Amino acid sequence: MVSRVIPVDPFDLVIFGGTGDLARRKILPSLFRRFVAGQIPDNALIIGAARSDLDQAGYRSFVAEALAEFLPAAQRTPEDVARFLDDVDYVKLDATGDEGWERLKDLARDDRVQAFYFSVAPSLFGAIAERLHRFGIARTDARIVVEKPFGHDLESARALNAALASHFAERQIYRIDHYLGKETVQNLMAVRFANILFEPLWSARYIDHVEITVAETVGVGGRGAYYDQSGAMRDMVQNHMMQLVCLIAMEAPYEFDPDAVRDEKLKVIHALQPVGMDDIVRGQYRAGADTQSYAEDVGNPASTTESYIAMKVEIANWRWKGTPFYLRTGKRLRARTSEIAIVFKEVPHSIFHDAIGWHENVLAIRLQPNEGMTLSVMIKEPGPGGMRLIEVPLDMSFAEALGAEGADIPDAYERLIMDVIRGNQTLFMRGDEVEAAWAWTDPIIRGWEEQGDRPRLYDAGSSGPEDSLMLMHRDKRRWREISE
Ligand code: NAP
Repeated sequence: MVSRVIPVDPFDLVIFGGTGDLARRKILPSLFRRFVAGQIPDNALIIGAARSDLDQAGYRSFVAEALAEFLPAAQRTPEDVARFLDDVDYVKLDATGDEGWERLKDLARDDRVQAFYFSVAPSLFGAIAERLHRFGIARTDARIVVEKPFGHDLESARALNAALASHFAERQIYRIDHYLGKETVQNLMAVRFANILFEPLWSARYIDHVEITVAETVGVGGRGAYYDQSGAMRDMVQNHMMQLVCLIAMEAPYEFDPDAVRDEKLKVIHALQPVGMDDIVRGQYRAGADTQSYAEDVGNPASTTESYIAMKVEIANWRWKGTPFYLRTGKRLRARTSEIAIVFKEVPHSIFHDAIGWHENVLAIRLQPNEGMTLSVMIKEPGPGGMRLIEVPLDMSFAEALGAEGADIPDAYERLIMDVIRGNQTLFMRGDEVEAAWAWTDPIIRGWEEQGDRPRLYDAGSSGPEDSLMLMHRDKRRWREISE
């Protein structure tokens, strides 16, 4: 299969927070990979901007070290790195001060796409937006990229939206949710809207339930202080999992256009029912044989923040009424896996009376590891001895199906940054989507706070708290195994 790489237009990209963790781990390696793939024109300019006392040469060394640390040697020849670094510059500035901004203005070129990546704490978004405007740096067609967390609740999200809206139009704002950049997540839309096969079955009429699992084996790591203020609900459910629910549940947009897609996603969020306390289980991991407890990891023995959440969510519209969506996500679980399972109903009447091992058809969409899809179907077990049925997978691993191209699936950030340069907002969250998601999440979190809810403890390396099993059992269903 021939890989098609369409170069983007020449651009200037300023990375505020160019010396930070996200820049080192994701943004710079992603830009480099696109550069090597031939998608970034030679005369593009990437400018790191931060307070650290660096000059151009110092920042180029910093970038080279980041590439060496976060990309395998096979992906970076010294020649490619040198060519890439030729297009890298640095401006020392403080987001809250006035020095350095004139230099940034001098570097800006009028004849190319202009993009600003706000890879800094959200508390600096307003200050940067205001200075880009006041110093006359950002053009009216400039694009800005902002990272999660986009707010802590509805009120703070509104304040952030308002701070950005003072200086930028919505069409200029790219709110990243890197889940939307994952190949499989986009394939959800392709599978649904480019095939006739699934759509007629895609409703409460034929789908029994939907299960979304995002399981991690790691604990909170070095992000303890941040995470303890946030928890699984804010860190995972309000953004990534909500986006997955939207892509599964949305109606077909009239075209694959940013606002058409986002309008349909927004309708799903509006249709989400409030979730009762009986339909949620929160958990916190215990210490393992050689791992600390959550409370020890975050240094807060009294913490009531959840590192695990399981919930049953209902969508009140014609398509989905009666088909629950079960979501669960957590840290220090048995395996690292992200999976969406569409579990179809059983046939209305089985003609195979002595069939052994009847199961539902399941369309399982794996986000990680091994991105791909499996559709389980029932067939006859080969050989004589009656009509015994067995379940077999129709398996499509992207890496296998697409050969070398599939094995080298671009990182979500590669795709999303290129979309910013192309000016395509389809895979970015609109302001009203983010606010609607918080409007649904806030009462749930407030409910825990008012009731003084404490998370159930669960063992490191398990599937989460025992109570989460009940969430499914009482509906005569059970979670799929968490396995890689
Ligand atoms: P970080 O490692 O703490 O980096 C923060 C960056 O901001 C540094 O480059 C820092 O550089 C710069 N900075 C801080 N104060 C500044 C100021 N007053 N003026 C100018 N620059 C300033 O944070 P990060 O992990 O890269 O995260 C950046 C953003 O991405 C945050 O909003 C975070 O929530 C989000 N995010 C991060 C990740 C991740 O994996 N790291 C994932 C998702 C979202 P100097 O100290 O040199 O000024």
